[in-house]
Amino acid sequence: MKKIIGLDLGGTFIKIGVVTVKGKILNKKEIPTPQSRGREKIISTMTESINDFFKLFPKKEILGIGIGTPGLVDKNGKVFLAPNLPDWDNLNLKKIVEEKFSIPVKVENDAKAFAWGEYKFGAGKGFKNIICITLGTGVGGGVVLDGKLLRGNKYSAVEIGHIPICYTGPRCNCGNIGCIERYVGAKYIVKMAKEKLKSRTCPPPSGRRESLITEIVGGNLAQITPKTISDAYDKKDKLAEEIWLEVGTYLGTLFSGLVNLLNPQVIIIGGGIAQVGDILFSTIKKIIDERSFSLLAKDVKVVPAKLGKDAGIISCASLFLS
Ligand SMILES: [Zn+2]
Repeated sequence: MKKIIGLDLGGTFIKIGVVTVKGKILNKKEIPTPQSRGREKIISTMTESINDFFKLFPKKEILGIGIGTPGLVDKNGKVFLAPNLPDWDNLNLKKIVEEKFSIPVKVENDAKAFAWGEYKFGAGKGFKNIICITLGTGVGGGVVLDGKLLRGNKYSAVEIGHIPICYTGPRCNCGNIGCIERYVGAKYIVKMAKEKLKSRTCPPPSGRRESLITEIVGGNLAQITPKTISDAYDKKDKLAEEIWLEVGTYLGTLFSGLVNLLNPQVIIIGGGIAQVGDILFSTIKKIIDERSFSLLAKDVKVVPAKLGKDAGIISCASLFLS
């Protein structure tokens, strides 16, 4: 059976593996992304790790190398503006890797690759029209419409994290105001938790709202993470519930617009924040039902991503499967 090398370049790790055309991982490894962030160092780390797999699998069995990267990627596999890799701009990654290995290479924005992977092998399998979102430090996503990955004009369509949901909202890293990422990105969820905890409804000396979140971090609010809020919610904490309802409402507002725009069959939620579970999915669905055209809303499913911890490798390999 033919195989594909999938390589997912992240800010912290490079995940790479050999995947069959049926989406099964045969071999994989994880290497820390060089923190010098220089492009030469990152590229040489990537190509060395690809080379290791050519020692294990004959080249004639490999269809190609699929690479997922942060940043905007144009139709020629050139990368622009990766927010966490400052030197990763105006970089013809496809050409560099193709010339190095003399084998076909496909490069795609990581979140769009993820959407394609979920469509081929995950929660989107069996559907033709899906919206996929990844919720983590950043918010990314991809859309498959009529069985094709939506790419837009020249760069990557679906910079979903930077769709504004509020005209007068807070300033986002991208320069715009009111982007969804500014509300549901991991650090902004943590910020929301701190603000809610500090909103004084109790008399001094505590002056803080009571919540298990404070207890879990031993009173040190600087240690709050989305996982803390999730753990508190699992123990029926009211303030944690309030936070996830608010996050779900922001996302539901975004998706109610996207449902009207794209008429998807399924909305797939991936990334660390999705682990919080049903409160998020049911709130998003409720807001879509309230706010989208009812004929479009009624059939939409909101579900968690399915590919799990190897999603990046499988997704990047799936770029070779039309
Ligand atoms: Zn933005």
